[in-house]
Amino acid sequence: MADFGGDLDLETFRKDARDWLEANFPTSLRSKQGLALALMDGPAPAGDVARWKDAMGAKGWGTPTWPAQYGGGGLTPAQARVLQQEMAAIGAFNPLMAGMGVTMIGPTILDYGTEAQKQQHIPPICRGEVRWCVGYSEPGAGSDLASLQMRCVDMGDHWQIDGQKIWTSGAQYSQWCGALVRTDPTAKKHEGISFILIDMNQPGVETRPIKLIAGASPFCETFFTEATAPKDALLGELNHGWTVGKRLLQHERASQTGVSMGGKATPLQDIARKYVGVDETGRIADLDLRTRLTQHLMDAKVHGLTLARAAAEAKGNSSPSNAASVLKNSATNVAQTRAELTLEIMGGQGLGWEGEAFEKEEVEAVRGWLSGKAMSIYGGSSEIQNNIISKRILGLPDTTQ
Ligand SMILES: Cc1cc2nc3c(=O)[nH]c(=O)nc-3n(C[C@H](O)[C@H](O)[C@H](O)COP(=O)(O)OP(=O)(O)OC[C@H]3O[C@@H](n4cnc5c(N)ncnc54)[C@H](O)[C@@H]3O)c2cc1C
Repeated sequence: MADFGGDLDLETFRKDARDWLEANFPTSLRSKQGLALALMDGPAPAGDVARWKDAMGAKGWGTPTWPAQYGGGGLTPAQARVLQQEMAAIGAFNPLMAGMGVTMIGPTILDYGTEAQKQQHIPPICRGEVRWCVGYSEPGAGSDLASLQMRCVDMGDHWQIDGQKIWTSGAQYSQWCGALVRTDPTAKKHEGISFILIDMNQPGVETRPIKLIAGASPFCETFFTEATAPKDALLGELNHGWTVGKRLLQHERASQTGVSMGGKATPLQDIARKYVGVDETGRIADLDLRTRLTQHLMDAKVHGLTLARAAAEAKGNSSPSNAASVLKNSATNVAQTRAELTLEIMGGQGLGWEGEAFEKEEVEAVRGWLSGKAMSIYGGSSEIQNNIISKRILGLPDTTQ
């Protein structure tokens, strides 16, 4: 196996990556647009998806920039970008993106974990062997997350956890949960919180899937009743979980700045030509639609270029920052506009739910439009991102306190 250390020439790396992807990305998965999303919502993959996951896990390329000592790819950010470009070129997706291990929990453990926690938790994430969920939101704590009430009590030789989380994505499939819990109810609300790593496979944990408007059940109500965790399960210091929790949210938002989840999406202008038709000069036969489509394509391009510029300016420092809030809102706008335009272009065919009268792409369009509504809610709503941008980037006064 080639050594992809940091000094390897980028073009040599590109060729090796291309060859490896060509040999390992199953042909049966090519052009399977949206598969990555399906993987995130469903149980453990099988068949070619499982084989692809194992190959990427063994290579460490599902976590390309993570340290090789814990099973990551050990690539430089520049190499990781090349890998991403080569994957995009053949419609390959990262099969390790199911659950929150790669995007949120793993990076936060790398930031705040003890050596023992890194050695226990990072290698199984890199190999795609475990799924993690994030237990933040509660029935009474969403945007105002610091109001969370789930209790975690020191029982001497272990922690006991009691309370309820909600909207816990993938909890029904997860072996582990990274949760914010209240360890000191007498402290100010941001100060009595800790971050704990909870084993989901125990009698005190119950998950009840909630059905989403688009038909799937991607998240759960999650109940903890006398659930337990060992004393070394806190990530970061006791009662300082708010800092760790905010860090995870930055990682989450940074992971939500791309518009496509993998696969090759059909260009919107091709969909428009098919459903709306073209005029005698070959242009899409609707001036108003053409204008809005052009605006959307320009916005999408600007978003992509801004992402590339932010990555270049980071100069190898892959730590997320408050700028992730800007990019998350921008990605949300682009994705939701694309979904709206797709339905409009398809007309009545874009309203199909099931049945032979509708092509697969048409059914996916309406479901994608509905599930895309969640983008402006999860990871903190668009309004909350705007609050962060105004306070932390623009330095405007906080008028909410
Ligand atoms: C698909 C999906 C997956 C999710 N996955 C997870 C998960 O895995 N783990 C998890 O813990 N949570 C998860 N969530 C929950 C998500 O983080 C919350 O829904 C979100 O933080 C908003 O909280 P809320 O639903 O309680 O709404 P609320 O906080 O009640 O907000 C309601 C409305 O009021 C607005 N609002 C609230 N406060 C302010 C303010 N200060 N300024 C301006 N506007 C404000 C909001 O923008 C929103 O429009 C998920 C949500 C969705 C939709």
